[in-house]
Amino acid sequence: MNRLFALLTLYICLAMPLSAQQVNKVEFCGKSLVGKDSIALHLKLLDGDRNAVKGLSVDQLKSYLRIRENSVTDEIDMSRVSIRPVSGKSGTRIGEDYTFSVLVDRNIPDKEAVYKAVGELVNSAPDGCVYLSFYGDDVSTSQLVTSKNYENFHDKFMESSREKYFFSALYSKLAEFTQSGSESLTLMLSSDYQKNPSIARRASENKGHNILFVFVDGSQDASYEDVSDIEINEYQEAHLTDAGMPRVYAFLYTGENAQPNENMLNALTWAVEPITDGEILKELKGKLFNSTNMSQALEDFAQAVNDASYDYDFVYQVIDLYSGNKVHYQALWNDEPIGETDMTIASAENPFPSEDATASNTVMKYLMALLVALLTFAFFFIVVKILIPAMKSKSFAMKYYKNYTPEAGVNRRICYYCGQDIRPGQRVVTKCKHIMHSHCWQQNGFRCSEYGQSCKTGIQPHVDWNMMFTKDSMRECKQTLSGIVAALVSWVIYELTGRGSVFNGLASKLTSLSLTPEHTLWTDSVSKVSAFLAIGLLLGFFLSLFFRYNDDYRQKDFKIMLKIVGLSLLSGLIGMLSFAVGGMIFSAWVGGLSSNVIPWYCSLPAYLLFSICFSLSLCICSSIPVKSALLGGILSAVIGFIVLYFSGNIASQNGWMNMLLNFIIYGGGLGASLATVRMVAERYFLVIQNGVRQGIEIPIHKWMNATGGGRTVTIGMTGDCEIQMNWEKSNKVAKEHAQLYIDHERHIPMLKPLTTGVLFNTRAELPVNKEQVLNNGDSFRIGDTSFMYIEKD
Ligand SMILES: [Zn+2]
Ligand SMILES: [Zn+2]
Repeated sequence: MNRLFALLTLYICLAMPLSAQQVNKVEFCGKSLVGKDSIALHLKLLDGDRNAVKGLSVDQLKSYLRIRENSVTDEIDMSRVSIRPVSGKSGTRIGEDYTFSVLVDRNIPDKEAVYKAVGELVNSAPDGCVYLSFYGDDVSTSQLVTSKNYENFHDKFMESSREKYFFSALYSKLAEFTQSGSESLTLMLSSDYQKNPSIARRASENKGHNILFVFVDGSQDASYEDVSDIEINEYQEAHLTDAGMPRVYAFLYTGENAQPNENMLNALTWAVEPITDGEILKELKGKLFNSTNMSQALEDFAQAVNDASYDYDFVYQVIDLYSGNKVHYQALWNDEPIGETDMTIASAENPFPSEDATASNTVMKYLMALLVALLTFAFFFIVVKILIPAMKSKSFAMKYYKNYTPEAGVNRRICYYCGQDIRPGQRVVTKCKHIMHSHCWQQNGFRCSEYGQSCKTGIQPHVDWNMMFTKDSMRECKQTLSGIVAALVSWVIYELTGRGSVFNGLASKLTSLSLTPEHTLWTDSVSKVSAFLAIGLLLGFFLSLFFRYNDDYRQKDFKIMLKIVGLSLLSGLIGMLSFAVGGMIFSAWVGGLSSNVIPWYCSLPAYLLFSICFSLSLCICSSIPVKSALLGGILSAVIGFIVLYFSGNIASQNGWMNMLLNFIIYGGGLGASLATVRMVAERYFLVIQNGVRQGIEIPIHKWMNATGGGRTVTIGMTGDCEIQMNWEKSNKVAKEHAQLYIDHERHIPMLKPLTTGVLFNTRAELPVNKEQVLNNGDSFRIGDTSFMYIEKD
């Protein structure tokens, strides 16, 4: 029995080597995108005392470490994983969520070596993680040091001082990590001292990743001051549970034969091992390195920096698409969950992985994009030609189809279509005064038999299957198709130019207004804002180009084309500018949230602002109506946004698809909303009846529309008039003689004389300012010129 037990114990020991039990926690220290299709998770393994577990072999890691993504069942398949130990001093090896405050004694010897050692920390940490301050005659403000500005601090290292206000320094630098208010103590701070708010903010967001390094020359006693080791100890005890509290690593140099001052030693000992309820608090356990020579002190420092560095890259080849959604990671060691974090990877505008750029893939991608564009057009066609008319028809029928009840004082009602009596209870249409049987109404093509002559309103919208694919019907879809094509062109350029990466410089400047490069979401935000800028410029320019080209009915000579291109460039710039402001709102919002992930709604204001500004820019020098451009623009921007941000999991293999859909839904939707308004007025023409201009058709609909306010066509002698009668030789025409416009309620064209001498249908002279309804075929005369009003089908 004993033997069996011994055997069993041996077996268990063999199966569970020491390394498996040692690892107590896996810390996630950020991520980076590797190549075209892999993500590296930066990991640090800790034992029960929160010391880094180093020297594990890749095989050991591969057999014990598992990482789950998003859900319990979603374990990353180890066949896709390679684990790389990260080693060597060079390069960034520290997670960007770490915050270091380095406090240096101005009196410490061999400061050139200290300067160099701190420089190595600065170089192995991402920009924005390291803050530096000094103490001596006073305590200096903590300043951000980066690999770029570090040289500027050399002179500050070399300054020396007479005093040594050590306790003020330790106290104020500890206190800088928490957001709590300053205690009422007299500290020996520099006259321009300021608490650096970035430290507390970063620290509270990244609990457990905060470190205070203190360099102390123990061979010289601290100067006398109000604050002492007692106050420091009290402060730390009171704030032990604050999220931002740092671990303290102290490097005490004492020199040969020197004994450090007891109070200084106490302060440091307590600071590196804070005690709560009689026990050392593990999470905040730092270390006091006591050395008699400087080179040993600096080696200790290098070791402490190394302990903060992550040691392993868990690199896995991705199979899913990442488009800025929040990803939850959970690390398991020997099937025990021992660490988790949330991260966002890539963005909706610039998803990862960007697909494999082999030639055949690229061709397939653009062919698929074309197909998607065609399908989207088909979708819009069905909506505009079938769904919307069907709904309108239904609502018309509910409103105007009634069972006939005999009216008082009317003996008999005769159907205007078939001429037979309408009997009580029969289904009739009551839209206009020409009451008809409903079947007669439908037989007449869903309209009143008098429609077009003495009836203006008797028509029912309906799905017209026969007319659906006629030339006229297709012409109505021209704006929609133009919007889709313009969006497709914009998208192709967006893809070919690296999804906005050309604007990285400008985007960094905009983002830096509200975020600092030290922010954990800095790179994600910059990449997002540069994508914004590209989207604004491209969509703004191409949509405007296509819509304006359609809007301008004139012969397109060089001058007119130049104007169209120029105005489109303006729209592109306005689009880019609005996205620049949107990007600033975005980064300000992201900066205000204490989060490691970017929520979807931070991007919404940018898209809305763009759609509003771009719609308004479209109306400059064109007949595009403001109201429909705004409504159509906002509506399609919102739908496009929803598709972009919430279809992430649908087209998981083709990340570019969501952005393409966003583009063409916006372009097509905006085009459709411009087209439906156009359809109402597109049939109205004035035809000149006599003189040198005889037979010329003036498309007055170009200036009129059914929804836009205030757009009128003025006829007169001056150049301000839409129709300038510069051919008229008589002096009977006034500067502004008459006006045409559409009555918004009834959708009827009206003529209004502004002065005397407008002859209507060659009979009566119209009174000034009295509106006259224009019917198809009506004519009027101004001066010697006769105009005929014509509605085309
Ligand atoms: Zn009838
Ligand atoms: Zn009628």
